[in-house]
Amino acid sequence: MQKDGLLVVVSGFAGTGKGTLMKRLIADYDNYALSVSMTTRNPRPGEEHGREYFFVSKEEFEKTIAEDGLIEYACYVENYYGTPKDYVNSQRAAGKNVLLEIELQGALKVKEKFPEAVLVFVLPPSGKILKERLVGRGTETPEVVEKRMRRAAEEAQYISKYDYIVVNDDLDTCVKELHAIIESAHHRPSNNTNFITEIQNELSQMAKGE
Ligand code: ADP
Ligand code: 5GP
Repeated sequence: MQKDGLLVVVSGFAGTGKGTLMKRLIADYDNYALSVSMTTRNPRPGEEHGREYFFVSKEEFEKTIAEDGLIEYACYVENYYGTPKDYVNSQRAAGKNVLLEIELQGALKVKEKFPEAVLVFVLPPSGKILKERLVGRGTETPEVVEKRMRRAAEEAQYISKYDYIVVNDDLDTCVKELHAIIESAHHRPSNNTNFITEIQNELSQMAKGE
C-alpha cells in the first residue's frame, strides 16, 4: 500500500538559504514536492508566476480564502502569503513529502491542523552572516533588508516551537541533515497509525487464540 507523504514545514529568517536548500532537496532526492504558495507581493526579477509563487491581487487572495482553498495563510511584511490546498493533498496522496517553505505564523497554524507535520527551523551560522546573505542576494532595497532583519529578531523568539533546527553553514551538509530529519520522522508512531492499528488488532486476535 502506498504510504502518504509527510507535511514538512521549513521556516527561517529571510536570507538564511531556505529557497536554496529546497531546490537542492528536490534535485538530490526523488520523494519531495515543493508547494507553490500564493502571494500578493510583486515578483522579483527572474521570478515566474506558477514557479516561485502564484502572484495574485489582494482581491483574488481574499476570494481563495473565502472558498477555503488554503491550508493556511499569513500576512508578512505587508503582504499576504498562503498555501493552496489541492496540490499539497494530491502530492501527499502520491507518497511525496510536501515541503512548505512558510513563515512562523503559518507554520504554527499547520502544526495545529496537522499535529503530525514536521516543523524545521533553518538557522544561519550567525546574525552577521544572515545580513551578508540578504544584502548579497541583491533582491531587496536597504529599507526592506532592515525590515526583514527586525522581523528576524522577533521570529528568533519562537525557534523552540519547532521540532528541529538545522544550521545552514555548509550547504551540502545542511541538505543531508534536513533529509535525515525528514526520513526519521517517517518512523514516528504518529506517522504510522494504520500499521500500528493493524498489528494491535492482529496481536489481540492471536492473544484470544484465534
Ligand atoms: P531564503 O530563501 O531563506 O530567503 P535564499 O535561498 O534566497 O534564502 O539564500 C539567500 C542568499 O544566501 C542567496 O544569495 C544564496 O545563494 C545564499 N546562500 C544560501 N545558502 C548558502 C550557504 N550555505 N552558504 C553561502 N551562501 C548561501
Ligand atoms: P519572500 O517574500 O521572501 O518570498 O517570503 C517571505 C516569507 O513568507 C518567507 O518567510 C516565506 O517562507 C514566507 N512564505 C512563503 N509562502 C508562504 C505561505 O504560503 N504561507 C506562509 N504563512 N508564509 C509563506
